[in-house]
Amino acid sequence: MFAPGTAGVRGPAHEQVLLCQDRTVGLKAVVSVHSTALGPALGGTRFRAYGSSADAVLDSLNLARGMSYKNALAGLPYGGGKAVIIGDPALLKTPGLLHSYGRFVESLAGRYVTACDVGTDTADMDVVGEETDHVVGRSPAAGGVGDPSAATAYGVLQGMRACAAVRWGEPHLRGLRVGVCGLGKVGQHLVGLLTEAGATVLASDIRADAVARTQVRFPEARIVADAKALLDAEMDIYSPCALGGALDRVAVNRLRAPVVCGAANNQLGYAGAEERLVDRDIVYAPDYVVNAGGVIHVAREYSGCSASRSPDRARARAREQMDPIYATTLSILTAAADSGASPSAVADDLAEKRMASPPRI
Ligand code: NAD
Repeated sequence: MFAPGTAGVRGPAHEQVLLCQDRTVGLKAVVSVHSTALGPALGGTRFRAYGSSADAVLDSLNLARGMSYKNALAGLPYGGGKAVIIGDPALLKTPGLLHSYGRFVESLAGRYVTACDVGTDTADMDVVGEETDHVVGRSPAAGGVGDPSAATAYGVLQGMRACAAVRWGEPHLRGLRVGVCGLGKVGQHLVGLLTEAGATVLASDIRADAVARTQVRFPEARIVADAKALLDAEMDIYSPCALGGALDRVAVNRLRAPVVCGAANNQLGYAGAEERLVDRDIVYAPDYVVNAGGVIHVAREYSGCSASRSPDRARARAREQMDPIYATTLSILTAAADSGASPSAVADDLAEKRMASPPRI
């Protein structure tokens, strides 16, 4: 068992960590397998420039652990793993590097199944898939189910409905003001779904092109130019959909919304952030519970599904699979309110119980 940098963390320790190097193509990668208790360790490949190799190892360990919990709570027959490729993808990413990486994934013989993450996309997974079958999130042209962002957004919407049920007694978003921070792949889809659901959307991003795209697609959304100012806006739900750490000390103390529910991974920016949210009577839906739509979507590919030829059928089927996110979020938030524990503590307990007694097949 291997768990440097995770001292004091509860739950099972990591099972395996693989350091990969291929100087001929400039590949340096870390593959972390946290748990295979429920099945092969499924989780994406992050490609980014890290300050040091130690930072990269730690990131892959933390992300892999998070995937075990996310997959367990989503009821998937998969464990958790994550890989990071070290370096700037804009400078380093080549077919040769991705092929070499694919061979490393193949060498794990299915203990680890990869997918896309920050810095990688479906086209990259198509290339990785030329070397290994243990990859999901490929394009429909390559036999995959395609980009998971729409499914992630739909899952977050289900999480918001559960938050609304707990906070206001009705699982509806009609008439609520929702602030979406981060208008990338998930944020754009979420703005559309919220608009459809009758919510008023306040939208913000640090990139002018993301804001402009939102204005064109959803002219009814109200743009808040300064992403930090969104914290001060009158809103019912705050939805972090950018990078991790959105709930830092400033945000947690300044936030005016009584509910937080968003897609971004690792939103809690410091130890004690969630307790402070509880003190302020803010309902927080743990990110790894509500953003599981993407992994639910791509997991289907490993069991042989590919994209449906009918977009309507594909959407209906994907939505059916995302609906349990509503029930899971609702039961976690209700148990937290009843017991006084934080929602993450309740969610972690549930995930650990599932990992400790996998269903017999
Ligand atoms: P993305 O890179 O497409 O979009 C992120 C957006 O956030 C960008 O437009 C960026 O400009 C904006 N942003 C960055 N910093 C910001 C800040 N400080 N304030 C406001 N906006 C800021 O990423 P994505 O695929 O949409 O994913 C969004 C988040 O959801 C990430 O944390 C990701 O890990 C998580 N997530 C995504 C998926 C998925 O299916 N794509 C699944 C699960 C979790």
